[in-house]
Amino acid sequence: MENQENESCLCGVSEYIVLACSGACDLGQITDSVARKLRDNGVRKMNCLAVIGAGIEKSIEDFKKKNVLVLDGCPIDCGKRILDNAGFSDYKYLRITDLGFKKGQTLVTEEVIKKVYDTAELIY
Ligand code: SF4
Repeated sequence: MENQENESCLCGVSEYIVLACSGACDLGQITDSVARKLRDNGVRKMNCLAVIGAGIEKSIEDFKKKNVLVLDGCPIDCGKRILDNAGFSDYKYLRITDLGFKKGQTLVTEEVIKKVYDTAELIY
């Protein structure tokens, strides 16, 4: 097994990155889809929120130097809490329920994903 000092998120890091809560519910799924769409369109690089939760120091230090957008599905704010607990102080943030979508009552459609995407794309 590799030494943890040599471990980091193998997704790589660019100047603009996005992290999604990627939760199991409808809104969590939407955060994940929107993050992947931002990546596919070359707006931001998608990185793994889980590496921060896991305490992978190399990735955490790399991410802290970047322009980070966090996407959370609901006010439980899992992504935000993970970043705050890891000492991030300056990052962009979007919570899907703030756009009027309701947890457990939102169909995950291309139309909904596009609505959220259109807001996320403009955040810098
Ligand atoms: S922020 Fe909400 S939707 Fe996202 S993982 Fe946490 S509980 Fe699930």
